[in-house]
Amino acid sequence: MALREIRTIGDPILTKRSKEVTGITDRTRELIEDMIETLYDQNGVGLSAVQVGVLKRIVIVDVSEEGDEPVVMINPVIRAADGEQDGYEGCLSVPGKTGRVKRPNHVIVDFLDEDMQPQSMEGEEVFARCVCHECDHLDGKLYTELVEGPLKDVESSEDGQEDDSDSMSPGRESD
Ligand SMILES: [Zn+2]
Repeated sequence: MALREIRTIGDPILTKRSKEVTGITDRTRELIEDMIETLYDQNGVGLSAVQVGVLKRIVIVDVSEEGDEPVVMINPVIRAADGEQDGYEGCLSVPGKTGRVKRPNHVIVDFLDEDMQPQSMEGEEVFARCVCHECDHLDGKLYTELVEGPLKDVESSEDGQEDDSDSMSPGRESD
C-alpha cells in the first residue's frame, strides 16, 4: 500500500468524466487499497479515484464515527434522492476551504463491491452528502460549482487540535 498524491483544484483531470470499471485487476485492487490509506491519512470521509489521478468510477466512503468502516463503491449510481439538507462541506481537492451546499438528505445508491457484486446502500445526512459529493467527482464536478455564497477559509480550531478542513462537515450549522 502507498499514499497517493491528491490532485487539487485547477488540475484539469478533476473536470473529466471517469470511466466505468469493467473488471477488477491487481492494479485496481492496489488502487483501492491506496485510496483507503490516502483517505485515512487525510482524515477525510470520502475520496474518488479521480482525486488521485485515476479516471475510474471508484469511490471510498467512510462516515462511521470511528472512521474504520470504509465502503468501496465501484460504478456507483444514485438511484433515489429526496429531502434536502443545507450545510458546509469541504473537499480534499480544495484544501483549506469550505462552502455551503444544498444536498438531498436521503439517497439510495447502487454500486458494485470489490468482487463486482451488485450492492445497494441507503443513508441520510452525512452519508447522503458524501455519496453525492463523490459521485459528482466521477462526472468531473467539484462542490465549488454548487456553493451558495462565498467559499470560506477553514478557521483553525482554537483548542489547538488539528482542524477538520479535510472532512466534510455537514453537521455543522450554517452560522
Ligand atoms: Zn471532494
